[in-house]
Amino acid sequence: TTVLVTGATGFIAQHILDKLLTKKYKVIGTVRSDAKGDDLVKNFKGRYPEGELSFEIVKDIQTNDAFDDVLKKHPEIKYVLHTASPFSFGLNKPFEKAYLNPAVEGTLNILNAIKKYAPQVTNVVITSSFAAIVQDAKDFKNTVHTNETWNPIKWEDVKTEEQAYVASKKYAEQAARKFYAENKPSYSLATVNPPFVLGPQTFDSAVTKKLNSSNEFLNIITHFPASDEPQNQVPLLAVDVRDVAEFHILPLENKELANERQFIASSPFIAQRVLNILNDDFSELEGLIAKGDYDSASKLEEEYCPKYDISSTVKKAGGYKFITLEQSVDDVFKQYLSKYSFS
Ligand code: NDP
Repeated sequence: TTVLVTGATGFIAQHILDKLLTKKYKVIGTVRSDAKGDDLVKNFKGRYPEGELSFEIVKDIQTNDAFDDVLKKHPEIKYVLHTASPFSFGLNKPFEKAYLNPAVEGTLNILNAIKKYAPQVTNVVITSSFAAIVQDAKDFKNTVHTNETWNPIKWEDVKTEEQAYVASKKYAEQAARKFYAENKPSYSLATVNPPFVLGPQTFDSAVTKKLNSSNEFLNIITHFPASDEPQNQVPLLAVDVRDVAEFHILPLENKELANERQFIASSPFIAQRVLNILNDDFSELEGLIAKGDYDSASKLEEEYCPKYDISSTVKKAGGYKFITLEQSVDDVFKQYLSKYSFS
């Protein structure tokens, strides 16, 4: 069975590729250049010599009809996983160009290409985000976030680059759902709505001094100044990248999830908890990173992190057990510290 994965070079997408190849799917990835595609195929050949991975070039998902040629050329594609969307900060472009347009147009381009050229597709999974769900921090206390919650953010109110990213994800998911409702295609449409995605890179070679956008928050926390105060920064939720990858594949194999808005999370996320994990598990960081107030972590999570209930999706996924935050953080730093010394 052949699966198309857009944005195949991404942090999450490479884990999806890894799992698909283990399960013996044939995989076509879209990448932005030959050089990126060649690298990707070479890395995965090293791990799966018999695995069938190829790539097609889609330089910019936002270009009109960006995916038409790929779907025309490959009538064997049965499943489409759309992960490509801009997720780097400091882009130095107007927010609309940098985030909103590629996120929304990219999503509509893949759905239109399927509509025009790929009636054989049975399942589509789109990587949305907890960004499309999360409420304003001031409302965290009185909201239990579920897969029916929508972020109220409006594009007109966007002021920062982070808000632009967040809004782009909400508008892209809404555009996909509107397209689906209006066109009533025969395929099933699931989304994956993860919060902070943490975890190791699929290949050590992808570890860079500055990590990918979500893991880089862990790096930032390690550079907080020494303090014995409770560290309540970055209160959110977390999930491991390997679980995020799994939830892109489950809807293809489990009918109960085929149309699910899959909001997934392993636990709350807050700076103090991350510092506790690192101080407990990495003696080499002793004295180099802040300790904060060790015993305050649970209280801070309770007070500052979004409340959530994901039980309906977890039940449909057979009582799925998520990789813990501790495991995610440990795996990120083991991989990072094997390449770079702490500085
Ligand atoms: P990455 O930046 O690693 O992956 C993004 C991928 O999209 C890259 O392959 C990138 O290609 C591609 N891409 C971006 N813009 C374009 C464009 N205009 N044209 C073609 N390709 C493009 O991020 P992640 O793996 O973390 O993110 C993957 C998806 O998961 C995104 O949809 C993101 O919004 C979502 N997500 C991520 C979370 C996280 O915490 N990491 C949380 C929730 C959702 P290239 O590298 O060549 O630019």
